[in-house]
Amino acid sequence: MLDGFKNAVELDFSCPEHKAGMEAAFAEIDAQKGTVYPLIIGGERIFTEKKIASIDPATKEVLAYSCSCTKELADKAIRTAYEAFQTWRFTPADERIRALRRLAALLNENRYLFNAWNVSESGKNWGEADGELCEQLDFINSYVMHIKELDKGLELVHTEEHNKCIYTPIGVGVAVPPWNFPLSLMAGMIVSAVITGNTVCVKPSSDAPIIAYKFVELCEKAGIPAGVVNYIPGSGSVIGDFIVEHPLTRFINFTGSKEVGCRINARAAQVAPGQRWLKRVVAEMGGKNAIIVDASANIKKAAQGIVNSAFTFQGQKCSACSRAIVHEAVYDELIEEVVKLTEKLKAGQGSGRSNAPAGPVINQGSFNSISSYIEIGRKEGRIVYGGTYSDEKGFYIDPTVIVDIDRSARIANEEIFGPVVAFIKVSSFDEALEIANQTEYGLTGSVYSEDRANINRAKDEFYVGNLYLNRKCTAAVVLQHPFGGFNLSGTDAKTGTADYLKNFLALKSISEDLTD
Ligand code: NAP
Repeated sequence: MLDGFKNAVELDFSCPEHKAGMEAAFAEIDAQKGTVYPLIIGGERIFTEKKIASIDPATKEVLAYSCSCTKELADKAIRTAYEAFQTWRFTPADERIRALRRLAALLNENRYLFNAWNVSESGKNWGEADGELCEQLDFINSYVMHIKELDKGLELVHTEEHNKCIYTPIGVGVAVPPWNFPLSLMAGMIVSAVITGNTVCVKPSSDAPIIAYKFVELCEKAGIPAGVVNYIPGSGSVIGDFIVEHPLTRFINFTGSKEVGCRINARAAQVAPGQRWLKRVVAEMGGKNAIIVDASANIKKAAQGIVNSAFTFQGQKCSACSRAIVHEAVYDELIEEVVKLTEKLKAGQGSGRSNAPAGPVINQGSFNSISSYIEIGRKEGRIVYGGTYSDEKGFYIDPTVIVDIDRSARIANEEIFGPVVAFIKVSSFDEALEIANQTEYGLTGSVYSEDRANINRAKDEFYVGNLYLNRKCTAAVVLQHPFGGFNLSGTDAKTGTADYLKNFLALKSISEDLTD
């Protein structure tokens, strides 16, 4: 069924050729420092007065600016996309597939440049950036594969009538990605809309607008017609409600915080004057992910899993581990191991460009929020590593391990979205599962255990969209670990799958009586 699908392979940056490629790409970005990038609506470049600064969180330097979309221009973009939909919806799947294959090839050709923009705008290291690029290639290749199957329609019971049930595109989508996977989540939203015959307006995160511009440019180069993909950066608080509520918006594909996701869901439920459908909302939101370690676990492996899941990309992954729920028999030993491993990750070792294992957090707002959670944690428990931070040169927060946290503590329940992990001691596996399931989220979770009975219980009772056993709770790979959350972590979209594409398709049943 997977039709020869293979996951893309990450670059090895110890290879001089790849290192040189990245350095040349950074030089290209620097040479264009301060460039102002316009909106793209129906292929037209539109400059506006208000700008959004793209800032390197490692240095606080302005890299470039994107123009900021007004409500009037957002209206123009949605109407343009609606017009383009009238043609694109009838474009055969083969043609859409060819365009996306060209897009994948172009992305691969421009790999260093996209990685360099990702590192510069989001502060992730090279390996993480290239991992994201591979994820995007995988999304394109998987959606191409799925659409071929979906294009055949549903299998039906044969009768004397001629019956068909076909998947058909639904309309204009609004794509609202977060900043932390500024390539793969943003581009995955565009690609899933385009391959299903829909059109889209992408409003990228204000923290990562330029990589989105570069991707929309690539869509044009791949031959996707003008108006099918429109680029409308703008502050969510200014144009967010407007694009969600617009009567021509047919679906909203959102990933981001619970607060914004819930707001979008509520606003999309209202039928605007002139609107002729109920809007579909895909909303993938936050997490408060737990790793359970029971008394039988391999402690070294569990410690490595916790450190990787909690601190890679400074804990700024929706899937990051922010709670370690640990049996009392192994609690002290595990903490000691975790601290030893964390010591190797000290933050603030230079800019993201130096490819340090721990880089900056995204912006001043995040820095303030995470550091205030560290201060809350200092009162709620005991800091055994980290707890230090500085925003002098960039937004740096040391990986922080806080132990002896009560299950009712704030840092045991609220998403921090930074390099902070809270240790909670338990006396049984029952208690561990109960605490793991107590938050309003349900995104990822891991269990480290050598006890088959506990593993089997976790399969049934640990209520998360992505459960991992004796493995870290981050780094989902397309079509190996389809991703999407339960509860207030989201609508369980499972990106990369055919199920995901069905969010953007309607089933049309056609029946013809061919008898005389
Ligand atoms: P965010 O603040 O919710 O922003 C996400 C997007 O929503 C941005 O493009 C933002 O634009 C936009 N937005 C803000 N207000 C809006 C409104 N009223 N209407 C429409 N759009 C609006 O989230 P973030 O800080 O970028 O990302 C971090 C969050 O994303 C965390 O909670 C993380 O767990 C979650 N996340 C979840 C997943 C997942 O798959 N479940 C993956 C990655 C991240 P502006 O930038 O202009 O404000």
